[in-house]
Amino acid sequence: MELRIGHGIDVHPLVEGRDLILGGVKIPYSRGLDGHSDADALLHAVCDALLGAIGQGDIGTVFPNTEARWKGEPSATFVREVYARLTGAGWRVVNVDCAVLLEAPKLNPHIAGMKRQLAQLLEVESDAVGIKATTAEKLGFVGRGEGIFVSAVALLQRG
Ligand code: MG
Repeated sequence: MELRIGHGIDVHPLVEGRDLILGGVKIPYSRGLDGHSDADALLHAVCDALLGAIGQGDIGTVFPNTEARWKGEPSATFVREVYARLTGAGWRVVNVDCAVLLEAPKLNPHIAGMKRQLAQLLEVESDAVGIKATTAEKLGFVGRGEGIFVSAVALLQRG
């Protein structure tokens, strides 16, 4: 049996006039993450963790933001494509764990929904998905509410 670990991070700015989508869940808030796709930083970090584990580059090379077809695309599309690549290479997901760094809004009421979405996309039980949120104690761009930072790790198994 082989094991692989992967790590991914992502940052997107918070701006007015955009929906806030994290972990595939629309979260009520006055601002949302800006980006070419739906800018779901959590799913992007997970994609990079999975791609890193199988040595297939990163989300920016697999889904270039210069391509019109990815504009406004729900990031679940990217997770599905990455997941197809890893299962195609014989891998399955053991677990993923994500840390979201943001000043507001409170994510607690939405974490169960985000875990369900991600568990479904990666075909694992929801206890194989960790999602936690923390503030930056008012420090830096996260602390000023200018953006959201996400870090994710994934463990894969083959054989
Ligand atoms: Mg991104």
